[in-house]
Amino acid sequence: MQKEIIQKLCRQLRLGSHISEVYSEIEASSNEDFLIKILNEAVRSREIERRNRYIQQAKFDLIKGIDTFDFSNITLPDTVTIDSLCSCEFASKKQNLILYGRPGTGKTHLAIAIGMQACKRDYRVIYFKTSRLVNLLAQSKANKTENKFWKRLEKADVLILDEWGYIPFERVGTQLLFEAISDCYEKRSVIITTNLPFDEWNTIFYDQKLTTAILDRLVHHGLLLMHEGQSYRLQHSKMQ
Ligand code: ADP
Ligand code: MG
Repeated sequence: MQKEIIQKLCRQLRLGSHISEVYSEIEASSNEDFLIKILNEAVRSREIERRNRYIQQAKFDLIKGIDTFDFSNITLPDTVTIDSLCSCEFASKKQNLILYGRPGTGKTHLAIAIGMQACKRDYRVIYFKTSRLVNLLAQSKANKTENKFWKRLEKADVLILDEWGYIPFERVGTQLLFEAISDCYEKRSVIITTNLPFDEWNTIFYDQKLTTAILDRLVHHGLLLMHEGQSYRLQHSKMQ
């Protein structure tokens, strides 16, 4: 009976169901002590909810954690440590990360793992395979729903563009991608994963000038993470 009243009040205060589930187990020495503990629970459960919402909204292709990532074949820039990656220093400084290496060397895994860390730290993240973002931008332009799409991008603190340079883009694609990158410049971080060396970027874009402009914006506040070593997929293949 009392529990039902508590549940109802929690609903009215939009506190979710957590408090009514845990209050009976809280041990407290005074009213103040109880109130502090219960308010702490409310704050904690709200944080977890927000984090989960951010992870959902990021639309990661799959879920990969940083704790399962082996950094032994990754060369970080001098100013970056594993800890500073985990704490998302790059996002607070609005720096970009370029994850470069051969297929199977953990670029997607690391990009998503860093994105998850960012969600945990209250940054809004949005993940796309690059070709998909270009297609969506082109579609939204054709449907005249561009503004809505740009607004969605603008909300993000970190934009992850996976598989940059796998598929060449035509003129409209390059133009739209340029707009997306320009829009992020010094406002939000971009994480790019690619197996294409910088001097070959002009092979995927239609326009040399735009390629240079895109590269310029990404690299200006950019940190290069080199994924060296062999393909993890091949090394850990169960195929004989
Ligand atoms: P890439 O995007 O560079 O092609 P992926 O991130 O897709 O590579 O990695 C391929 C597979 O190998 C994934 O299942 C990934 O979790 C695993 N993997 C690759 N590198 C690592 C690593 N350094 N530590 C842990 N798992 C890894
Ligand atoms: Mg990948």
